[in-house]
Amino acid sequence: MSDVMVEAEETTIETEEAQDIPILYLHQVERHYSQGEATLDILRGAELALWPGQSVALVAPSGAGKSTLLHIAGLLEHPDHGEVYVAGQATANLPDAERTRIRRTDIGFVYQSHHLLPEFTALENVMLPQLIRGLGRNEAKKRAQELLDYLGLKARVNHRPAEMSGGEQQRVAIARAVANAPRILLADEPTGNLDVKTAEHVFAAFNQLIRASGLSTIIATHNMDIAARMDRRVTISDGLVVELD
Ligand code: ADP
Repeated sequence: MSDVMVEAEETTIETEEAQDIPILYLHQVERHYSQGEATLDILRGAELALWPGQSVALVAPSGAGKSTLLHIAGLLEHPDHGEVYVAGQATANLPDAERTRIRRTDIGFVYQSHHLLPEFTALENVMLPQLIRGLGRNEAKKRAQELLDYLGLKARVNHRPAEMSGGEQQRVAIARAVANAPRILLADEPTGNLDVKTAEHVFAAFNQLIRASGLSTIIATHNMDIAARMDRRVTISDGLVVELD
C-alpha cells in the first residue's frame, strides 16, 4: 500500500498549489440530443465545481442526464455549449489528442458494468492503463498488485473476470480506474448491478480508497446510503445542477 499512499501524497502536494480553484469545473454546459423532430435539452447551462479532495454524489432519476454529465466531465463527450476546466485548463477546444492525454492522466472512470477485458487476469487489467501510459512493466505490475491488495483482492490477482464475483469484478474495475493515480474519479452507478450487501462492501472499499488518496470524486448513484457518506449531494433538475443540502 505504501506506493498508493506515496502517490496520494504527491497528488495532494500537486493540488495544494491550486486549492483555490476547482479540480473540475463545468461552466454553462449544454447538451441537447435530437430525437426525430424533437430536441431533448438534457443539460441547459449546468454549473458544477468539484473542489480538490471533495466527494460529490450525483443523485437524480433515470434519464435526468447523470451519464451525460459524467461523460462531458470526463472529456468523453463534447458539450454543445460551455466549457469544462480541468485544474483550471479549458478543454473544450483542445485537440482530441490533448483531451485524451488529460483523460488518461487526470481522470479515472468506474462504470455500472466492470468492462474488464475477459481474456486478461485482474492483475493484467490493472496493469494495462499504466502500460498504455508508458510505465515500465515491473512498475505497473507492482502498483497493480498493491492496489488489488489494498482492495482486498490479493488472492484474485491471477483470476480472469469470469472467475470472480460481481463485487470482486467491480473492485478490480476501481483498481484499474485509479491505476494511473488520476486526480479525478468519476463513477457512474458503480454499485448499481450489485446486491445490497455486496454494494456496501464495494462502496466501503471505494470510499476508503478515495479518502486515503485524497481523490476528487463524482459518483452517480441511486443509493441514498452511499450519497449520505459523500461530502456533498447534487441533482440535475431542468438541465441544471442543483445542490441537495
Ligand atoms: P441518466 O444517466 O441520468 O439515466 P443519461 O445521461 O443516460 O441519463 O440520458 C439522459 C437522456 O438523454 C435520456 O433521455 C437519454 O435517452 C438521452 N440520451 C442520452 N444519450 C443520447 C444520445 N446519444 N442520443 C440521444 N439521446 C440520448
